[in-house]
Amino acid sequence: MQQFPQQFASDNYAGICPQAWAAMEAANQGHVPAYGDDVWTDRAADAFRTLFGIDCEVFFAFNGTAANSLALAALCQSYHSVICSSSAHVETDECGAPEFFSNGSKLLVASTPDGKLTPNAVRTLATGRSDIHFPKPRAVTITQPTETGLVYSIAEIKAISQVCRELGLRLHMDGARFANACAALDCSPADITWKAGVDVLCFGGTKNGMAVGEAILFFNRDLALDFEWRCKQAGQLASKMRFLAAPWIGMLESGAWLDNARHANECASRLATAVAGLEGVKTAYPVQANAVFVTAPAPVLEGLRQRGWRFYTFIGGAARFMFAWDADPARVTALIGDLRVVAEREACLL
Ligand SMILES: *Cc1c(COP(=O)(O)O)cnc(C)c1O
Repeated sequence: MQQFPQQFASDNYAGICPQAWAAMEAANQGHVPAYGDDVWTDRAADAFRTLFGIDCEVFFAFNGTAANSLALAALCQSYHSVICSSSAHVETDECGAPEFFSNGSKLLVASTPDGKLTPNAVRTLATGRSDIHFPKPRAVTITQPTETGLVYSIAEIKAISQVCRELGLRLHMDGARFANACAALDCSPADITWKAGVDVLCFGGTKNGMAVGEAILFFNRDLALDFEWRCKQAGQLASKMRFLAAPWIGMLESGAWLDNARHANECASRLATAVAGLEGVKTAYPVQANAVFVTAPAPVLEGLRQRGWRFYTFIGGAARFMFAWDADPARVTALIGDLRVVAEREACLL
């Protein structure tokens, strides 16, 4: 098969990390009961409880869209609303699934300068209307790290959750790249979730190095009532559940979840440092996790494309580079080298 040179267009271009693969293989022995009634699923759920230091309810879904949508649906009635950032994945990239699975709970979007929700933005949206004609605010969702690679600090999450408690709102965290946030903050997973007031977390496995799968963790166990039926109805109950669950055992018990994230973050940081030294090229957002958004004159981005680099520009026109668990340091060096060449050529022409 022809080898496709490594790209940084998406962390989903990467394959499966060895720890997830080995755990999948280990689970591929003989017969076990179906639909999650098996030792692998129990052990994966326990690995989450150990990692987070709390007896949470754990569920497994195939992807992030389903995990987010079903989690939010569990927090709301159809006449409720969910506060999110205008750049949140639930708003921009889930094809209306949160509204669909909640039977109509409306997303209320806040536009903030950097795409992060703030206590004030939450308060403004939550208190703007309280009449019978407007969907009643019931939940808040934050993405950690955000779609543009920003990390909420522990204090920022606590400040948001405090407003949530005051106003009777539940707090959901879209953690498609949750591990990268833990690595960036060098904190325990508990510090930025239940200890900071988060009720439900969707912990991304796919972008962290698994083939497929996200875990939904209810720290507030009451909110998980009947959640298994919700998953089944949505087509998210894996019949051979052990293969959705086992990779998590490999990820969590070996520490690969964090090592993978640290490596990805370090690669992003290398690119950010290189960009800082180039004329006419800038990072569009502070680089805090595994994403780097590069703003540059069009000929520079075109020059990168001509040199074979793939990247998306769907967020504000900046070129997005997203590093995965297996980012090859030599390819990062090559990208930096090519960026330097095209940026310097452009600077000479000006
Ligand atoms: C990737 C991603 C998801 C999940 O997307 P799926 O393609 O449905 O797995 C959710 N939230 C954010 C912020 C993401 O980047």
